[in-house]
Amino acid sequence: MNILIVGGAGYIGSHAARLLAELGHKPVIFDNLSTGHKETVREFQFIKGDLRKPADIKKALKSCSIDAVMHFSALALVGESMEKPALYYENNITGGLNLLNAMIEAGVKKIIFSSSAAVYGIPKKVPVEENHPLNPINPYGNTKLGFERILEDYRNAYGIGFTALRYFNAAGASLDAGIGENHPVETHLIPRAILSAMGKLKDFCIFGTDYPTKDGTCVRDYVHVLDLAQAHILALEKLKLGRGAVYNLGSEKGFSVKEVVDLTQEVTGRKIKARYGRRRPGDPPVLVASSKKIKKELGWNPAYSDLKTIITTAYNWHMSDDYRLED
Ligand code: UDP
Repeated sequence: MNILIVGGAGYIGSHAARLLAELGHKPVIFDNLSTGHKETVREFQFIKGDLRKPADIKKALKSCSIDAVMHFSALALVGESMEKPALYYENNITGGLNLLNAMIEAGVKKIIFSSSAAVYGIPKKVPVEENHPLNPINPYGNTKLGFERILEDYRNAYGIGFTALRYFNAAGASLDAGIGENHPVETHLIPRAILSAMGKLKDFCIFGTDYPTKDGTCVRDYVHVLDLAQAHILALEKLKLGRGAVYNLGSEKGFSVKEVVDLTQEVTGRKIKARYGRRRPGDPPVLVASSKKIKKELGWNPAYSDLKTIITTAYNWHMSDDYRLED
């Protein structure tokens, strides 16, 4: 199949592109390169464009005969979304609508959407199942839930089939250390812990030590980017049969920030100097997925999502020549 990967030069999209190509599909990358890197997808057809400009995405969809879309493109920082909600609604909602409207015009009827655990807000019950109440607590989560609702309306009215994959904490890198996480401003825990271990991050802070958790720090569910990519393939196969759905993607195990820092020290063999600071606004204390639904319905079987493999692959990537520190 010819798959348009919107946001395909980004962290998760570039891993999905590689896997699609390995399986004989043709990925076509659409990206505005605001945070993505063209060199990570150099072997694929690349279209530079911005979802906020309807003409860009219309042209892209018309220029190749696309069978389905994978939509990874979004702004995804909780803190930034609280300061600049207009930017988030414009990118994640208006941009998404431009994509869907262009799909209608081009007759493309299938989309896999990168949603987020942020749609649940502060979970009342963990592990979180898909039928848990939806109650985002920040503009980022609102845009993800809002777009899921738009997808439902577009499916009902225009027959666009969709699957929404609600990621928990994406982490890790390709096994050959050729591609991995490389954000212009890195806010995520695992890369920050690694950079700190490597002596490339001066001020590494653990945000909050008074959460109601085993050691007072936040608990998260880390899932390997290769397992996320695999889930996209399975979702695509099912969507071809007309069966879209909403699924959680996580390892179903929770690790505290301190546990992640300890294991990063062990994997890297280097000491991390961490400072203890205040809670980061918008962080729920515990987020752990139940991924039973996708395991049962699509046979998803995460192979790389144990924390040691996640940190080891991320570390190998950060040590590789392909990783460029941009700040
Ligand atoms: N975190 C931290 N220090 C950092 C970055 C993150 O203590 O430098 C914490 C953060 O407060 C959260 C967890 O690590 O509890 C995971 O944060 P991340 O930004 O990686 O992902 P999020 O859960 O926000 O999607």
